[in-house]
Amino acid sequence: MIQYGKQDIGEDDINAVVDVLNSDFLTQGPKVPQFEKALIRKFSCEHAVAVNSATSALHISCLALGLAEGDYLWTSPISFVASANCGLYCGAAIDFVDIDLCTYNICMVSLEEKLQRARVLNKIPKVVVAVHMCGQSCDMIQLRKLSLEYGFYIIEDASHAIGAKYDDEFVGNCLHSDICVFSFHPVKIITTAEGGAATTNSAKLAEKLRMLRSHGIERDPTRFVTNEFGKWHYEQQILGFNYRMSDIQAALGISQLKKVDSFVQKRNKIARLYEKSFQNLPLNLPSVKAEALSSYHLFVIRLQLDELSKSKHEIFNDLHKLGIGVAFHYIPIYRHPYYVKMGFSCDDYPNAEQYFKEALTIPIHVKLTELELNEITHKVSALLSRSL
Ligand SMILES: *Cc1c(COP(=O)(O)O)cnc(C)c1O
Repeated sequence: MIQYGKQDIGEDDINAVVDVLNSDFLTQGPKVPQFEKALIRKFSCEHAVAVNSATSALHISCLALGLAEGDYLWTSPISFVASANCGLYCGAAIDFVDIDLCTYNICMVSLEEKLQRARVLNKIPKVVVAVHMCGQSCDMIQLRKLSLEYGFYIIEDASHAIGAKYDDEFVGNCLHSDICVFSFHPVKIITTAEGGAATTNSAKLAEKLRMLRSHGIERDPTRFVTNEFGKWHYEQQILGFNYRMSDIQAALGISQLKKVDSFVQKRNKIARLYEKSFQNLPLNLPSVKAEALSSYHLFVIRLQLDELSKSKHEIFNDLHKLGIGVAFHYIPIYRHPYYVKMGFSCDDYPNAEQYFKEALTIPIHVKLTELELNEITHKVSALLSRSL
């Protein structure tokens, strides 16, 4: 079965990890700060905080921005559940904004309409989590404009968008957001096995994120609240977590980060091949806006079901039988049983519902061979033309 996504680990990555295993520190050594410096250099942000997952990064980002009970967090329903769960961890209420059917990102028109209604009800969200679906940045300039007008913070969920660009600059520079979060899970663009990071240009937020990552502990004596324990000690000042990344993971991250541009380039090359191969099929192919360079974490096709004799389910199963590991990203979050209980109505999200009915994820990753790509394009083409 050809998997939809997969890591690319080279000798250089393996050697970097082995070096740490042979060193004095497996965790809390020099590699995590080195990885953070590399992220800062690469993405042109002022601060980077590496953690053990993007989920953790989203959680402490919400906390650092002060999200709490009585607040609202809005995000896209077409995302991994972590984009919304982070708000629930903080006791906030969640709401969703419908997607744009071209980019699969939050629709800025729907967002503005929802904000207008929320203003009347005095329910403006404290945080909007902007998910860069498939690796294409949201319309950040418009989002920033709305955030200033209505007064909400922006967290970018850039789990898919490592190495992606917006307005010719890397996603992660936080030019139009408060915090940007990356995931280094093996299916993502680069990996640290499990791992994530938050970038920001605010020294205050970075400091808060660092404390929350490690138990809420302060080690800098100049910031101690009390001098009762002496300078050599540490203080817990807030309630934090153990969300630390290990040096083993960070070493892998440093090594992987060097290859991010070539990974994104390779993914774009595959995307061009798919666009060419699938252009005459009854499909809606991904569309990337001129100001964005997608990192193509996912290649999502939408079936034109009225021109096909099979259902999405049948096509999904047929492709699996043919050895093509198609997948689906994502079931709208409000459809998960845990969220259904909160009383969301599918009718409020017509575009997300249409996406749900039509979308399929075709394999895309840097380890795909010429042979496999050929197999994918031929089998998809044959199956979808036959069903006409
Ligand atoms: C993968 C993913 C996450 C969670 O990442 P982890 O590092 O596995 O916690 C969050 N949001 C989106 C959009 C993702 O794709």
